[in-house]
Amino acid sequence: MSDYQVGFIGIGNMGWPMAKNILKAGGNILKSGHKLAVFDLDKTRAAKFAQEEQNAVAAAGAADLAKASNVIITMLPTGPIVRDVVEGLLAAGSLKPGTIVIDMSSSEPVGTKQLSDKLAKAGVALIDAPVSGGVPGAQAGTLTLMVGGDDAAAIERAWPVLQTMGAKLFRTGASGSGDTMKALNNYCAAANFRAVSEALAMGVKFGLDPNLVIDILNVSTGRSFTSEGAFKGQVLSGKYAAGFALGLLTKDVKIASDLAGELGVMAPMCSVVYNAFAHAREGMGYSADFTSAHKYWTRDISDKPKS
Ligand code: NAD
Repeated sequence: MSDYQVGFIGIGNMGWPMAKNILKAGGNILKSGHKLAVFDLDKTRAAKFAQEEQNAVAAAGAADLAKASNVIITMLPTGPIVRDVVEGLLAAGSLKPGTIVIDMSSSEPVGTKQLSDKLAKAGVALIDAPVSGGVPGAQAGTLTLMVGGDDAAAIERAWPVLQTMGAKLFRTGASGSGDTMKALNNYCAAANFRAVSEALAMGVKFGLDPNLVIDILNVSTGRSFTSEGAFKGQVLSGKYAAGFALGLLTKDVKIASDLAGELGVMAPMCSVVYNAFAHAREGMGYSADFTSAHKYWTRDISDKPKS
């Protein structure tokens, strides 16, 4: 008999479909009679989720959710927001000893480790389990999960809950290791995006058909997740709606760039990619879709006086 009482904080682009997949698992995961509690700063969003999804309830606040849960999942924009919310719950005495907190946001490894140590003193385990696969992967329940944490028993106990949201689960090591791997992955994805963006701009300026550039890349050695997924579907179509904010991807590359500094690893390309995305974020805004960075970068190029 399952005895998971799950609460989910952050019903955004990713959190909504992920929470929905926990609900799909129903009685195989959730304790009989337990409704999945959801909370979001945007209360209308949490209320809408509870209205649309059976067996879910919108909690009045994060503290109410925590009191009714033995597994709390956070899917929030940044590590500092996660720490604010979870430390707030700890300070208010809303986290029972034995509770497992799973942070699935893309957070900074150092902050995660500090939070993990703090929670451990109160008998609460923290698992970092950031995800990759975007909104389509979240909807399909096929996300890649990078699972770090210091409490092996808590990870074992949380595993069936994690499996409802992901298809490829990796145990990465100690607390913060999942977050480290996630930042490295998103740095590579962002660097690929920037490289394809530059190649496309050059190809177009030469007179190549933009669709042909992407079609050829996608069956050649220059292909990548972003060339296959983002350019045809979002950039060339003019949709710019992949469901991942430019501000969030920029944050991830910054985490990787900071990590290079902390570890003393030379990673000059990481700084270049970070600056490119930070520049686009300033121009397009934090909430713009990350794919619109191409629009910003190429507008920069075409605006330059022709000599
Ligand atoms: P989002 O902005 O769509 O969702 C975040 C949600 O958190 C929002 O609904 C917001 O209202 C809520 N929120 C913010 N502060 C809060 C608080 N203090 N208390 C409660 N709720 C609060 O973001 P997202 O795209 O779902 O991303 C969430 C996390 O997952 C981020 O760390 C992101 O980097 C990561 N991620 C995103 C994607 C993607 O494709 N969108 C993919 C992988 C990982």
